[in-house]
Amino acid sequence: MGGRSTPVPTSYPKLAVRPVGKQIQNIYTDRLRQFTDQGQYYNQSLLKKLYHHTTNDSKYIKLSVYSPPHSSRPTFDDATSHTFKPAKLGDSFGPAWSTHWFKIQLTIPKNMIKGEHLEFHWDANNEGLVWSEDGKPLQGLTGGGDRTEWILPKSWRDGKEHTFFIEMACNGMFGNAPGGDTIQPPDPNKYYALTQADIVDVNLQVRQLYVDFWEIGDAAREFPDDSWEKHKALQICNQIMDVFIAGDGSQESILKGRKLAQDYIGKHVDSAEVYESGQQPIVYAIGHCHIDTCWLWPWAETKRKVARSWSNQCDLMDRYPEHHFACSQAQQYKWLKMYYPFVFDRVKEKVKQGKFHPIGGSWVEHDTNMPSGESLVRQFMYGQRFFESHFGERCQTFWLPDTFGYSSQLPQICRLAGMSRFLTQKLSWNNINNFPHTTFNWVALDGSQVICHMPPSETYTADANFGDVKRSVTQHKSMDQDNTSLLVFGKGDGGGGPTRDMLEKLRRCRGISDTTGLLPRVHMGNSVDDFFDKLEKKAEAGTEFVTWYGELYFELHRGTYTTQANNKKFNRKQEIMMHDIEYLATLASLSSKGYKYPKKEIDELWENILLCQFHDCLPGSSIEMCYDDSDKLYAHNHVLGTKLKDKALAALGMNKSIASSSAVETVAVNTLPWSRTQVIKLPEDDYTIVHAEPGPNPTDIVELQSSQKATISEISDGVFELSNSRFRVRVEDGVIISLIDKKIKREVIVKGGKANQLVIFDDKPLYWQAWDVEVYHLNSRKELTSGKSEIVERGPYRVSVVTKTKVSEHSWVKTTISLDASTGDEDSPSYVQVDAEVEWHETMKFLKVEFPVDCVNTEASYETQYGIVKRPTHYNTTWDMAKFEVCCHKFADLSEANYGVSILNDSKYGFATCGNLMRLSLLRAPKAPDAHADMGRHHIKWAIMPHIGALGTDTVHAAHNFNNPLSLVTISDDDEPNDDIFTSIVVTGASSLVLDCVKRGEDDEDVSRGDFSSRKGKSVILRIYESMGGKSRGTIRTTLPVKKIFKTNVLEDDLEELKLAGGKKSEGGEVEIELRAFEVATFRLQL
Ligand SMILES: [Zn+2]
Repeated sequence: MGGRSTPVPTSYPKLAVRPVGKQIQNIYTDRLRQFTDQGQYYNQSLLKKLYHHTTNDSKYIKLSVYSPPHSSRPTFDDATSHTFKPAKLGDSFGPAWSTHWFKIQLTIPKNMIKGEHLEFHWDANNEGLVWSEDGKPLQGLTGGGDRTEWILPKSWRDGKEHTFFIEMACNGMFGNAPGGDTIQPPDPNKYYALTQADIVDVNLQVRQLYVDFWEIGDAAREFPDDSWEKHKALQICNQIMDVFIAGDGSQESILKGRKLAQDYIGKHVDSAEVYESGQQPIVYAIGHCHIDTCWLWPWAETKRKVARSWSNQCDLMDRYPEHHFACSQAQQYKWLKMYYPFVFDRVKEKVKQGKFHPIGGSWVEHDTNMPSGESLVRQFMYGQRFFESHFGERCQTFWLPDTFGYSSQLPQICRLAGMSRFLTQKLSWNNINNFPHTTFNWVALDGSQVICHMPPSETYTADANFGDVKRSVTQHKSMDQDNTSLLVFGKGDGGGGPTRDMLEKLRRCRGISDTTGLLPRVHMGNSVDDFFDKLEKKAEAGTEFVTWYGELYFELHRGTYTTQANNKKFNRKQEIMMHDIEYLATLASLSSKGYKYPKKEIDELWENILLCQFHDCLPGSSIEMCYDDSDKLYAHNHVLGTKLKDKALAALGMNKSIASSSAVETVAVNTLPWSRTQVIKLPEDDYTIVHAEPGPNPTDIVELQSSQKATISEISDGVFELSNSRFRVRVEDGVIISLIDKKIKREVIVKGGKANQLVIFDDKPLYWQAWDVEVYHLNSRKELTSGKSEIVERGPYRVSVVTKTKVSEHSWVKTTISLDASTGDEDSPSYVQVDAEVEWHETMKFLKVEFPVDCVNTEASYETQYGIVKRPTHYNTTWDMAKFEVCCHKFADLSEANYGVSILNDSKYGFATCGNLMRLSLLRAPKAPDAHADMGRHHIKWAIMPHIGALGTDTVHAAHNFNNPLSLVTISDDDEPNDDIFTSIVVTGASSLVLDCVKRGEDDEDVSRGDFSSRKGKSVILRIYESMGGKSRGTIRTTLPVKKIFKTNVLEDDLEELKLAGGKKSEGGEVEIELRAFEVATFRLQL
């Protein structure tokens, strides 16, 4: 090699200009806070430049107020008809729950007339609603720095005075909690100071740069250290701060900052265009606003929350075309229609445009543990009928983001109500086991399934932060099958919904994904159903989603099966009342010419019951005011329901209540679909045994066979023996020390055990008092010692002993243990009944009653809606142990292969079986959010029913009988009760088939209230379920002039015409039916 080479020219300087250091990451990251600082750097920060001008001068803003008396909530017309008194900034308004109407006379100052963007800012740290001068509710205000602005109309820039109103509600989003702890009972003396009433001219570019910087800053903080995306975000934020000039007159530095931001978030974040990049998103954001129908505020406030929250969403939709919003609960839509027709019409318009999505299909977001099967059906029936009649469509997705666990038959009932999808996220609150799936098939007891999605961001009230979008992938547990997810965002629980900031942040998150690729790509502009459509298509194309069989048990809030006992009792009683009313009214409407099926009143009763099943009402987690409200509704229902029942009975030839006069004949009415034999107490303190077929039955006094008689004796000091042909029961000091089944000579109580033992526990959960009972409460178990027992009934129909047990200085329990004469009817087995009267004034205690039984099984059975759910009796794994307190309906059962014990109850839902110890939960005493929950007098019934053989239909029937005893009515001499009509519809065949509901068709021409086009003729709806878990056959026989029989869904759509056999059409007929294990089947008899 040789010769000379020419040097390559380079622009890279030969000499170093100056030293440049490596950035210290944490310092440059911490610095970012200064830019949006509210503290010492505020005057130098971006926020200081947010407004061109502001004024609160009373020259421009004249305030006056009308404060209605007694915490009333008058209408606009009423309120504005009163005289308004002058008010000013700094004035205080209260007390808690009061309302104050402000008249605001506003003139835009000269220097703002040509302003960029004018808003009125109002903050009194409580909720408000802006009304136009002519009475239109326009927009809600939240207070406390959240949603405090209302955009002023352009037409007001005319130098003239304009008037509008603000209806101030003296409560925050979360009611009136006294301090920082929101679940403490509300402070009745809370006052609110008006701190802001300003006209402001907003610098929109500053507002935008603020959000740009917020999101890029989050990327700098939250992206992984080893990603270039993190480093770049940090550089851009620092550069934005470097070019920024604080103080006036530097709009250019703002624009420069925004330009720099584009490098990271793209060029399209100022409009919905950002979502049109054509790139495939995986996170679908949907606006939502969870409004608890009651919780830390009463129903009356919820009605206003709905108007405030939803009018805001309509307003946002006008400004953000990508905004899609889903909201549930037909009840809330109904209230809006009744009290705020202007807002309802606005919502309806947005529904038509496909932006506002009614969702959920149910009347309210109800509890699913405690309502009966028929209640769950009615939640959907009333919900779907409302949505379809008002918006032209039924819902496809069942929506319960916040409810406390999900019972096992919901997938079946959903499918029968036209819904194949389900959304929740509450199981992310489990405090023992982490639920393993995000998207999966959820399978009911009968095998029906819905596709379930639990948003991986693990909230239904996301602030639409960078982190929420990120967690939509990092916490996604079903990515083997599908990586997409929903992000449900918007202020919630107390209402509110998405805000402007949230929509702006999401635009930037999308921009960041499209520019950098690292953040999961979020999309706005789809509905929840669009999301599920894609999942269903995927399943159709062969993706096998993971399955979850049975209940979605919630490992928290187990106290809600017991708290607020009266509410639960009313719920149970009124569900049974509705069964009777609908059954009797149906029969009356078919047999009595002058009688009209009381559809309007039945709807009213059901809607009230369904409302009280809201997921903070029935579970017992609301403030005291809410239970004052629900008590009133239940009382109203009781009066109306009794009237309806009496009317229907009268139409069937029976008078209402029992008269003491012996001139009239008394009959016992059996409204259940099977015959039964029962000891009943007659008006004159006499007893008799009635063998009752469905319908009215004579109550003649019968002479008991000596073998049937119940006997009692004190066999040794304080030990009583109660006996009938089946059982021999020994009671000492209120507890059962022996229970012998004479038929097979078996002792039911475990050796040395004490059944019916009352026990008390310390009950201080980690935080959520009314909601939770925590596993450690079991360690504090104390047996309550009773006084001596005394005989109160000596037979021969009934024998009883009564025992008083002291709980404390203030509380006691009086238990009456009874055994009735044997009925001689194989189908009406004997049991030991306990009636308890409790005076309860405890603090953070839990009262239960125990039954140590001599049975071995690793699983116990509990009645649930339309079936039985099995749960472990051991603590093998953490999943088993987590079920240390579970929900049951009318019975719980522990059985061996050939023998078992069922515990029946008339109003309780909490239960536990630990080994061979069965434990019925009776009363709790939490002090928050209701300081007086459950204090006072209670009446509770339960029964111990040992049975030969494993759990069978005897228990199912006995539990129904126990909850719906024969009722006595009188018949007058000239009025013969119409017996035949009671046998006009019968179901025969397998005893596991339960005819659970008989009602008239919703749309029959003589019943319909015009929601839908009516059906010609009369029809009868029968709901039958298979109660034991085995395919079963039976026959529906009717003597009614039936023309056709259809199998329908629970919405009463005809699905399949069944073959009607036997008899001429005018004489009735019969149809063979077969039900899957635990199937719920609805039939429509077209007359
Ligand atoms: Zn809720």
